[in-house]
Amino acid sequence: MSDDLRTELQAAIDTRRTFAIISHPDAGKTTLTEKVLLYGGAIHEAGAVKSRRSQRHATSDWMAMEQQRGISITSTVLQFLYDGHHINLLDTPGHQDFGEDTYRTLTAADNAVMLEDAAKGLEPQTRKLFEVCRMRSLPIFTFINKMDRPSRDPLELLDEIEQELGLATYPVTWPIGSGDRFTGVYDRRQEKIHLFKRTAHGTKTAEDTVFELGDPRLAEVIDPELYHQLKDEIEILNELGTEFDLEAIHSGQLTPVFFGSAMTNFGVQLFLDAFVEYSLKPYPRHSTRHDIDPTYPEFTGFVFKLQANMDPKHRDRVAFVRVCSGKFEKDMTVQHARTGKTVRLSRPQKLFAQGRESLDTAYPGDVIGLNNPGMFAIGDTIYNGKKLEYEGIPCFSPEIFAYLRNVNPSKFKQFRKGVAELREEGAVQIMYSVDESKRDPILAAVGQLQFEVVQFRLETEYGVETRLELLPFTVARWVQGGWEALEEAGRIFNTAAVKDSWDRPVLLFRNEWNVGQVQVDHPKLALSNIAPVVS
Ligand code: GDP
Repeated sequence: MSDDLRTELQAAIDTRRTFAIISHPDAGKTTLTEKVLLYGGAIHEAGAVKSRRSQRHATSDWMAMEQQRGISITSTVLQFLYDGHHINLLDTPGHQDFGEDTYRTLTAADNAVMLEDAAKGLEPQTRKLFEVCRMRSLPIFTFINKMDRPSRDPLELLDEIEQELGLATYPVTWPIGSGDRFTGVYDRRQEKIHLFKRTAHGTKTAEDTVFELGDPRLAEVIDPELYHQLKDEIEILNELGTEFDLEAIHSGQLTPVFFGSAMTNFGVQLFLDAFVEYSLKPYPRHSTRHDIDPTYPEFTGFVFKLQANMDPKHRDRVAFVRVCSGKFEKDMTVQHARTGKTVRLSRPQKLFAQGRESLDTAYPGDVIGLNNPGMFAIGDTIYNGKKLEYEGIPCFSPEIFAYLRNVNPSKFKQFRKGVAELREEGAVQIMYSVDESKRDPILAAVGQLQFEVVQFRLETEYGVETRLELLPFTVARWVQGGWEALEEAGRIFNTAAVKDSWDRPVLLFRNEWNVGQVQVDHPKLALSNIAPVVS
């Protein structure tokens, strides 16, 4: 490799940070994203991400919107500069468009930001997404939001994370009061108090006023009771709290915690400063050859998401590729590992909050959107140099299930083709009854929208009308050890056995409680909520 390329790659990697936000709807992800961009100078008035907020209407509208725009408004990858760093924020869809894409996006991120509402603490969607982060040992940064509203006790919020997620916490900032009395935060990195002024709806970066702890002027600006309490709490944290440990942060065992209010900009900049310093830059990724270092000079990457265009007249699709090594250049040709074909990457694009921007170069940690003439599937590797494949992307436990019925039997061929292609694309998981007489596919998804997209696309792209028959299950578990293990377990109550697209046994349950029951009755049966990767 030329020394020039090595230097260029190293410099690009050192300044790149790629992350995704995990949160429950309404915790403030859209708001935090806006504020992060505001501080990053990508937009000057927060609110430019508003189009995403209008996602929040009925799914039929969502489809109409996708049609009008011809491109996803739900899958933005935002890149902005902060303090000399190129930050890639991979947007994870939420709300009713929550789907497997949300999980898959985490496979392309190097870090995660866990966003909590201070009044609510941990919520279901966050817990689920956390599991995926844990699987990948991602460093997790916690931002506790909405401190300007009445909040739960901060020590209690930390305790919840420690107890329920088994994740140690290190508060980097500490709140002074909450709700109407929220006055600012104490920054343990610099041992300074940051007082914040509320700005008009937080559309401009907030001016903060910084004081040393012990500064006599503080008595005038902080309520004496809060000031006293703060000093006590800092003492408790310093004496009894977990010690700062960067390695533990990097291995996903310790989460730095920040308190703030995205809406009023409280604490956002302190968070970003620490994030840039503590987060992981792009690191080696597992492949069939060996771990591939991002400085490996050949371009390599993998597809983690496909976005289909909802407009039947324009069948273009976008394949999102995470760059893992080397340098991407427009018009370059690469090898497609699964098919062995050579592909020219001619129309790459980078997605911003507003519109698409075409892209000439990209480095490890970046995401490129490729117009996909139908050849890419989720998990596909593209590479130059010696052949390699990155570890595939697993199937995640679906939560809604339905038989998919073909309304018009004369369309059987198209029905079968459509279902197979949509499955390959990763739009939905397909399972089948073990009862040979029940041959209709069972759609299995993590979000309702996935079903609607499948039905919509079958109709518009394959001319097939379908009907859904919902099944009463909410949990799937893959049986480890396959059919033999299942047989050995004997009769199992309160579950239905089905097979996935690779003929592996899956048990469907009505609820988590039934899973627990089966585990008690059959202690030898090993169940997993994530399917083994098929390569
Ligand atoms: P998302 O669903 O996670 O993207 O949440 P949004 O960013 O859309 O926020 C949900 C609601 O909470 C909106 O009404 C926001 O204005 C509000 N919100 C977000 N951050 C804050 C905050 O820091 N303080 C307060 N009081 N409200 C907030």
